[in-house]
Amino acid sequence: MAETILDVRGLSVEYASDHGAVLAVDQVDFDLEGGEFLAIVGESGCGKSTLLFAIAQLLSPPAAVTAGSVTFKGRDMVRLTDSELRAVRWSEFSVVMQSAMNALNPVKTVAAQMLDVCRAHTSMSTAEIRQRSEEVLRLVSIDPVHLDSYPHQLSGGMRQRAMIAMALLFTPDLVIMDEPTSALDVVAQRSLMMQVKELQRDLGFAVIFVTHDMSLVSHFSDRLMVMYAGQVAELGSTQALFDAPLHPYSRGLLEAFPSIIGPRQLLTGIPGSPPDLANLPAGCRFAPRCPSAMQRCTSVLPDLLEVGGRLVRCVLYDNGGGNDGSPAPPGGDAAVGRRADASTESPASPALSGMGSAS
Ligand code: SF4
Repeated sequence: MAETILDVRGLSVEYASDHGAVLAVDQVDFDLEGGEFLAIVGESGCGKSTLLFAIAQLLSPPAAVTAGSVTFKGRDMVRLTDSELRAVRWSEFSVVMQSAMNALNPVKTVAAQMLDVCRAHTSMSTAEIRQRSEEVLRLVSIDPVHLDSYPHQLSGGMRQRAMIAMALLFTPDLVIMDEPTSALDVVAQRSLMMQVKELQRDLGFAVIFVTHDMSLVSHFSDRLMVMYAGQVAELGSTQALFDAPLHPYSRGLLEAFPSIIGPRQLLTGIPGSPPDLANLPAGCRFAPRCPSAMQRCTSVLPDLLEVGGRLVRCVLYDNGGGNDGSPAPPGGDAAVGRRADASTESPASPALSGMGSAS
């Protein structure tokens, strides 16, 4: 059984504002095994990128972690000093940013940027750095001749690959990717995803991959976390979630993109827009947009429940459905869940421990 390398518990992030604190990430819990691929999906503003930045300790004011812990390979990242963090970054975990054109320095060649990274984190000689830089560029299928190119001389796909090559300079155990394909066309997106998966298989690193495009990760991720309004809405195996999404928001996301097989269907999408995090609705945060909403959804804050090996935040699963005559949950009685935090108190929770995740 693979070792847990990342354990996130009760993580909350707030943005300070003139009108009070805005809770962008609210009590998020999950863990990650070595070599695992976890995708985090949700609409813009759901907190997924803020969550990544909190894990990597890259938040800057007005954002700050206000509660919880991020334990990476036994260290609580939230409490590390800057110099301790510098020793862990790049060598043990690295981050691939959303837009390579913004993340790369436009007035330095790729080689010069790799040199900067290596000088900051190792004592390698210039010749060794050049050799390693050539190796990692080859890993991502870029001819090492492009080490002497400036970012604007590379295509969008090559820039993003160069970023991934830099992230792999020291073969870290975890690579965090924040929408690395969002600026690419669909063909380049798929090609990049296949390359990431291949590298992950060969080098054995774990991936946390943030995207707003659920279809993109359907064939690549082991587990999927759906976030809504700063909270985990659903977490489970990608296959199970695509086969039968439990949370109405997950269903809405899946119904928002077309299938190229089967009969033609009208795309329904999700009406409305995510809530203002500074002014959240009472009860379930998805209630104003939820087709399954019932009266108590506007007053009860749903817990994260364990349902058939998955975690889902919805009252449809807490005691067999709504108390006002609403339908039973999809999946029938067997799908009716228990509070995830209650289940984690009990070691006899095979579904939960089997999926390698927690509350
Ligand atoms: Fe919809 Fe109610 Fe479930 Fe929220 S708790 S997702 S409003 S059914």
